[in-house]
Amino acid sequence: MAHRIGIIGLGKIAQDQHVPAIRANPAFALVATSSTRAVTIPGVPVAHTEYHDMLAMPDLDAVAICTPPQVRHAIARDALLAGKHALLEKPPAATLSELADLQRIAAAEGRVLFATWHAQFNAGVEAARTALAGQAVKNLLVTWKEDVRRWHPGQDWIWQAGGFGVFDPGINALSILARILPHPIFVRRADLQFPANKDAPIAADLEFGSDRVPGETLRAVLDWRQTGPQTWDVAVETAGGTKLTLSGGGTRLAIDGKVVVDEPEAEYPGIYRRFGQLLDEGRSEVDETPFRHLADAFMIGRRIMVEAFEDAPAEELRTPPPSSGSGAPPR
Ligand code: NAP
Repeated sequence: MAHRIGIIGLGKIAQDQHVPAIRANPAFALVATSSTRAVTIPGVPVAHTEYHDMLAMPDLDAVAICTPPQVRHAIARDALLAGKHALLEKPPAATLSELADLQRIAAAEGRVLFATWHAQFNAGVEAARTALAGQAVKNLLVTWKEDVRRWHPGQDWIWQAGGFGVFDPGINALSILARILPHPIFVRRADLQFPANKDAPIAADLEFGSDRVPGETLRAVLDWRQTGPQTWDVAVETAGGTKLTLSGGGTRLAIDGKVVVDEPEAEYPGIYRRFGQLLDEGRSEVDETPFRHLADAFMIGRRIMVEAFEDAPAEELRTPPPSSGSGAPPR
């Protein structure tokens, strides 16, 4: 029988990705939604504005929590304690302690907790993981540069403390690293650029270390001020000299200049395939590593004040941004 699932928070990612991915997967039935703005999805039988009402539905098995991270812990906690399995959008919480609490509650309640990292579901990522297995990494360069005005117009939460600023997309790159790198890396330096009028960074320059290969250079450059072509690339060189380039957010992989994977983005179908498996097996999946790296960057980061940033003018906000179905990865 299909898992009966509800969505909490009907913003951009819920509408662009979760609704179609759930509907396309016969292992799930989308039976309810909860939206504080009373957004509804045609064809979904039950619509609530207060998520507690949805959690009181006895025949609801699971919820997908698609809100910003600042409010995720309270909602996920309530869901698990109401006996529901929980799928968390990324970033999984606002702090590491909140995530640990959710893991503890899920285990105590015997519920499945799935902290999703959508970028990990691109075909190039798995191929890179296989190619790098057993190797040591000498050089790493993450380049994650995009136009915040294009992808996050009017999203105030993203600029507030706990919204993580440029790390909201940047954590996708960190999640790819967590999946493909054959050994741990550690944040050794972080320069975080905060606009004078914002509580979250607009750019970050991270240096990692692994203490495995002499002369290693491991770096990530995240920037939200890139107009024109957008860049979501990870370049890796092993100690043995093999060069891997993951581009397009993980959809394309080249090894030593030869393209070995080039597939369209299919992240959310992959997420729900995996969630179905976890539910069938009664097993949680929480990889904290990307979130730990984000937290480490804030912990040891230098705060650099840069010029104030203004979001797009009101008339531009009325034009919807290009949908995630345009070939670009979800942000
Ligand atoms: P969004 O468009 O701003 O939607 C978030 C929704 O959450 C709101 O529309 C609102 O829905 C609900 N919400 C509940 N409490 C809220 C609060 N205090 N402040 C703001 N909204 C609140 O954001 P989004 O882009 O969908 O992102 C949501 C999460 O998905 C984030 O963690 C983000 O990192 C992740 N994500 C986004 C993308 C993307 O392409 N946008 C891609 C992958 C992952 P209701 O009014 O319906 O309650």
